[in-house]
Amino acid sequence: MEMKEFADLPLIDGHVHLDAPAGATKQAVDKLESFALEIIDRGRLSQMYLSSNYLGTYLKAKHAGRFYDGGEVPWSSTEVPWSSIGADVPDWREYLDGLMACGIDGIGEMGSKPALKEKFRPLSDDFYKDFWRYCESHQVPVLCHVADPEEFWDEASAPQWAKDRGWVYYGGEFPKKEELYSDLESILCHYPDISMVLAHFYFLSADLERSADFLDKHPKVSFDLTPGIELLYNISRKRDQWREFFIAYQDRILFGTDICDWQKSKAALDRIWVLRNFLESDEEFFTPRTADHLMTRYTEPFIGLALPGEVLKKIYAGNFQRIFGKQPRPVDTLCAADSCDKHGQEPLAALIRELA
Ligand SMILES: [Zn+2]
Repeated sequence: MEMKEFADLPLIDGHVHLDAPAGATKQAVDKLESFALEIIDRGRLSQMYLSSNYLGTYLKAKHAGRFYDGGEVPWSSTEVPWSSIGADVPDWREYLDGLMACGIDGIGEMGSKPALKEKFRPLSDDFYKDFWRYCESHQVPVLCHVADPEEFWDEASAPQWAKDRGWVYYGGEFPKKEELYSDLESILCHYPDISMVLAHFYFLSADLERSADFLDKHPKVSFDLTPGIELLYNISRKRDQWREFFIAYQDRILFGTDICDWQKSKAALDRIWVLRNFLESDEEFFTPRTADHLMTRYTEPFIGLALPGEVLKKIYAGNFQRIFGKQPRPVDTLCAADSCDKHGQEPLAALIRELA
């Protein structure tokens, strides 16, 4: 199908990264802003949820209703002390109260990717204890990445692009995929009322039964469809069973692309196209030539699920809105500008003040 043939439905991309490094200049911010607006427009998105270190706060204040903002929290492999918080164990209440006052809609993407054992801190570490407690008691949803595709632990099957990025875990002492899963399980047992979206289908797309058991066991947890394009490939190999799964768990699956600002806009749009074609058509198709290099080229095709409109509606927007809010929360511009100043984002602070 072509982009213009896809269903005319609200579509929220729940997983986008725009990197606004500390001290990002106005010129850099303008560039990221026009990239985001172009993708929303040409990708037929109604809204985007951004992980972007306060850039999302600015964009959401400037373009009311178009952006959701994910507050930044360190990934488990980040060195302590985490510079933005500046303490070995942060005062989570103060930090998260500050983010909430700025108007964030959720936390993350954050999570745990494998790191060498001496650098690795589990999500169940004391460091995060008050973070999880806060998210549960204040009902702040968390977009969380746990583990990676299983082939990254295996030298023979890891794709070259993962090797090039150092996302491989076979040389040296890395936590195993199952250790990362038990780490998360212990959090979900301690804080069962946390609203969590696990990115990349929780890397469980090779195991339909386990995915179903996991979602049954944790009713407040959902999966997003962000590639990890291996998930489309795995699902295509058992397409009919997975189609039933998508219908049965239609309330627990969210649309997301992992669009990043280093991608060309065509490549970013390809991510939207691949996912929509997979969900809406029954076509056999391959990764487009123009897609970015993280979108592995397989020799067997993806096979579309041709899901009913009612299911698409939930995956595209309804589930996201239930978890993160029907509309983005309003930004308190003065409070947001002060927070930007505190966290090394002075140029962004000045831009936000202009909107006040
Ligand atoms: Zn991501």
